[in-house]
Amino acid sequence: MELDRSIKFPATDEAQDLVKWGLDSFHPAVALACSFSLEDVVLVHMAVQVRPDVRVFAIDTGRLNEETYQCADAVRRRLNVNIEWYFPERQAVEKMEREEGLFSFHESLEARHACCRIRKVEPLSRALSGLKAWVTGLRRGQGVTRSELKPIVRDEAHGGIIKISPIATWEFEQLWNYVRHHNLPYNRLHDIGYPSIGCEPCTRAVRTGEDARAGRWWWESPEHKECGLHINDNKQDCRTLQN
Ligand code: SF4
Repeated sequence: MELDRSIKFPATDEAQDLVKWGLDSFHPAVALACSFSLEDVVLVHMAVQVRPDVRVFAIDTGRLNEETYQCADAVRRRLNVNIEWYFPERQAVEKMEREEGLFSFHESLEARHACCRIRKVEPLSRALSGLKAWVTGLRRGQGVTRSELKPIVRDEAHGGIIKISPIATWEFEQLWNYVRHHNLPYNRLHDIGYPSIGCEPCTRAVRTGEDARAGRWWWESPEHKECGLHINDNKQDCRTLQN
């Protein structure tokens, strides 16, 4: 899909302005992807200030922590948002678990990718179907795979729709300041050393000095620490394409 030349991109990189631009430009064909991380709680709060009816979707992989479900429900109540939940295809999960067992993701990178494809990537494709844009809580500080992240890109992996990462340049401390200032609910795993939270069997707390995603798939090397949701990210900000 070619870039829509009629889109008026914002000149700012301020997070609130990018959220507002995304919702004003694309609603209802824009949705916020939420895994109930600190990043996503901040973005949902910013978004409901702009549009109380903002579309928020989440993927229930079936292997999330109890604390994540508790956070999800706290966010739903506190911010009065309707969460559009997506689940993996039942038959694909049944086949994988029957043939490979419940912890196949520990056996090889291929097996781990296969599980992420079934539990995350495929539901994400359905969530994004029909959208013109989506909003994510990705940040450059999350690790080597995200260090070149740009705030507005074309998502080539999902038909060239616009992918907005309003807090791409934020530091972890800024997130905490925002959450405390607005007294927002957050995932309690953050209190016990989890800066990044995914599925329960594939996430551990990080040690002092480790980067934010060191606890994700900790048995793999840093350049593999993606689940396929963001792996094909375009390195070019859309705004440079219109110059
Ligand atoms: S993070 Fe682990 S459990 Fe979750 S989908 Fe990926 S491999 Fe499967």
